[in-house]
Amino acid sequence: PVILGIESSCDDTSAAICVDGVMLSNVIANQTIHAAYGGVVPELASRVHQQNIIPAVQQALVNAKVSKNDIDAVAFTRGPGLLGSLLVGVSFAKAFALAQNLPLIEVNHMQAHVLAHFIDEPKPRFPFLCLTVSGGHTQIVLVKSYFDMEIVGQTTDDAAGEAMDKTSKILGLPYPGGPLIDKHARLGNPDAFKFPEPNIPDLNFSFSGLKTSILYFIRDNVAADPDFLQNRMNDICASVEKRIVTILLNKLKKAALLYGIKDVALAGGVSANTGLRQGLTDMGQQMGWNCFIPAFQYCTDNAAMIAIAGYHKYLNNDFVGQNVAPLARMPFS
Ligand code: ATP
Ligand code: FE
Repeated sequence: PVILGIESSCDDTSAAICVDGVMLSNVIANQTIHAAYGGVVPELASRVHQQNIIPAVQQALVNAKVSKNDIDAVAFTRGPGLLGSLLVGVSFAKAFALAQNLPLIEVNHMQAHVLAHFIDEPKPRFPFLCLTVSGGHTQIVLVKSYFDMEIVGQTTDDAAGEAMDKTSKILGLPYPGGPLIDKHARLGNPDAFKFPEPNIPDLNFSFSGLKTSILYFIRDNVAADPDFLQNRMNDICASVEKRIVTILLNKLKKAALLYGIKDVALAGGVSANTGLRQGLTDMGQQMGWNCFIPAFQYCTDNAAMIAIAGYHKYLNNDFVGQNVAPLARMPFS
C-alpha cells in the first residue's frame, strides 16, 4: 500500500510517503517564528501549520514521485500534542481522505517515535525496551509488538527535553536549546561541575529539582563572577548534559535488568544528543546489549514515523471514521 503520513503535533509540519513499508519521502517544514518568544507559541504554531501543510504534502508527493491518486490510506497524528496544532493535521487528513475516498489511520505520536525504528535496518526484535526522550515526554517503554506497548517508567514532572530547553534558557541561549547544549558540551569538561541525581523510586524520573539546582548554581556563581557564564559555558553544558544522560541511562539499565531484556532502543528528539547516543553505546557494550539508535532525521518530529506506524496499522485493517477528533492527551492504544 501507499501511505501518506501527516504530522502536526507541535511546531513541525511534516508529510511522508511510504510504499510497502519503504519510506520514499519525508518533508519537514520547521517553524522559525517561535525563536523570538523563547518557546513554542501554540496559537502561532497552528497558524503556520495551516500555511505549511499543503506545500509539505505536495513536496512529499513530488519527492516520492507518487501521484495523489496512488495513495491508499492517510495516516495522521491524533495526539498527544498541542490541540490547535493537531487540529490542522487531523482536519487536513480527514478532508483529503474524504475528497479521495480513502481510509483514515490514527497514530499515537509517542508510539510513532518508538516505531521510527522500523523505517530502516537494523530493526529491533520484540520485546525490546525503548527510552523515549522528547520535548514533552520521558518514558521507558516495554515494546511487546508494534502496538502493544507498556510504559514502565516515566517522568513525574519535566521531560528530559524540557530540562535541556529550560537549562539553555537559564544560560541565556536561544530556543530551541537542546542542540546548543549538545554543541557546547562537546567542547567542555563533563566533570567540571557536579549536579545532583534525584532519588526517585522505581523506573520513574524527575527533572524539576535539577532545573532548580542549575538555576541557583548559575545565580550564585554569576554573583561572585559576572563573567562566569561566558568563561565556563562549555563546562556547564557538558556537566548538565552528563547529569541528564546518567539519570536516563541508570534507569534504563535498571529496567533492562528487571525485565531481562538486552535489546534496547532510543527515541524522541533528545535521542539526537551526542552524549546520550555515546552513553547508550558505552553502556550497551558493558551490558552486552543490542543498541538501536535512530538516524538523526527520525529523532525529532517527522511524518515518516507516522507513515510507518500507519503502514503496520493498514496491514491490521485498523482504520478510523470521519468522526475522529484530535486528543491533546492521548494514552497508548
Ligand atoms: P513530544 O514528542 O513529547 O510531544 P516534541 O515532539 O516537541 O515532544 P521532539 O521533537 O521529539 O519533541 O523533541 C524535541 C526536543 O528534543 C527538544 O526539547 C529539543 O531541545 C530536544 N533536542 C533536539 N536535539 C537535541 C540534542 N542534540 N541534544 C539535546 N536535546 C535535543
Ligand atoms: Fe515528538
